[in-house]
Amino acid sequence: MNIGKEVLEILKEEITEVEYKRYIQHLIYDVKKSTNDLAIYYAPNAIVINWIKNKYSDKIAHLFEIKSGTKVTVQIALKNSVDKRKTKKVVEVKQGSSLLNPSHSFSNFMVGGSNQFAYAAVKSVSENAGNVYNPLFIYGGVGLGKTHLMQAAGNVYHNEGKVVIYTTVEQFLNDFTRSIRNNTMERFREKYRKCDVLLIDDIQFLSNKEGIQEEFFHTFEALKGDGKQIIFTADKHPKKIGGLEERLQSRFEWGLVADIQPPELETKIAIIEKKCEINKVKLSKDIVNYIATVIDSNVREIEGILSKLHAYSQLMHIDIDLEFTKNVLKDQMRENRENIDMDMIVKTVAKDLNIKPSEIKSKGRSKNLVYARRISIYICRELTQNTMPQLAQYFGMKDHTAISHTIKKINTLIEEDEDFRLKIEELTNKITATP
Ligand code: ADP
Ligand code: MG
Repeated sequence: MNIGKEVLEILKEEITEVEYKRYIQHLIYDVKKSTNDLAIYYAPNAIVINWIKNKYSDKIAHLFEIKSGTKVTVQIALKNSVDKRKTKKVVEVKQGSSLLNPSHSFSNFMVGGSNQFAYAAVKSVSENAGNVYNPLFIYGGVGLGKTHLMQAAGNVYHNEGKVVIYTTVEQFLNDFTRSIRNNTMERFREKYRKCDVLLIDDIQFLSNKEGIQEEFFHTFEALKGDGKQIIFTADKHPKKIGGLEERLQSRFEWGLVADIQPPELETKIAIIEKKCEINKVKLSKDIVNYIATVIDSNVREIEGILSKLHAYSQLMHIDIDLEFTKNVLKDQMRENRENIDMDMIVKTVAKDLNIKPSEIKSKGRSKNLVYARRISIYICRELTQNTMPQLAQYFGMKDHTAISHTIKKINTLIEEDEDFRLKIEELTNKITATP
């Protein structure tokens, strides 16, 4: 695989499937014309070019830097025009000075009961680097705005002229291994220990990676010792992240740990309105309300939906009304749920947990089978119209009381076991996002 493709593969992990399929998937990397500091991609039309230019070019450039170690300029060109007239219609995209997404600002972040604690914590840290809560640890489910908030603080620091490093664990690890390979550890340490602010996203991925934990620990000590602000995000509370050295785990809690919960309906509506404003999409109130009720908690879905609406209306020269919105979302959202059947749920759960679908439906009592079966039953109950007797029959259980007993058990687990809840949430998202 060429580096241009690899970069898109990494990007794929970080965005919604809808966004990926609609935009990124169509990009073709020009291996021949691209150079060490110039990456050329081709896109099929102007909409894709614009969308990528606005949303992903910085990110793509950043991933190139992580992968290759050098700064690149990313160019997105119209496929046909380049074929015919060489580079005439090339849209040049300059890499910004910061790797932070500039639209991830505090003013673009909608505050509600679900996120106000995290918001207040990040805001106060952004106004008083290194002095109030250090480190600040933000945790919560997928797509609830952790990266956005963290980068909002990053943008404030950046605008004050501070040296901000924003990185994911994966990128930190890549950088680290490359530095070992190239014998440039000194530069690596200099970079991470001399910055003013370090933002590390999705720290849960440090789990069970010993080598990098050691290096990371020393980075942390150096920065903290110098009073430099550190912010982490994760999908769970530090106590719940397994496979961490104890000294690291305890340090994660030294400052302040703040959680983000799924947004309430009003907050969802506010977020959609904000996204419309940013993306220059005009939607009436009833459409906004409709989208807010159709999407669950994962805010990331909203952007996918807006871009889809925007693209369709532009391509087909149609104004967006409620009927049109419902049609566009049909294959994706609630109607999609009606197509979700138990086979599909069991298949997805089995794949995720590395077991066979038939094992979930078997009478096997081993711990991981029981775990997978519980999750499957719960999701089937939530996402399909099947009755308890139907579930009992499908999962080979005695009768509906066995199912109702299982569901009670699962409800307790969801309340008591954060990991279990997150797993269910993650799998539910996966299942409902599958086209
Ligand atoms: P996470 O890092 O928690 O998975 P992100 O920060 O990537 O989530 O958020 C996903 C998307 O949702 C981003 O486009 C972000 O701007 C948006 N978003 C999430 N919460 C809010 C909010 N409260 N206000 C505005 N946008 C939000
Ligand atoms: Mg994130």
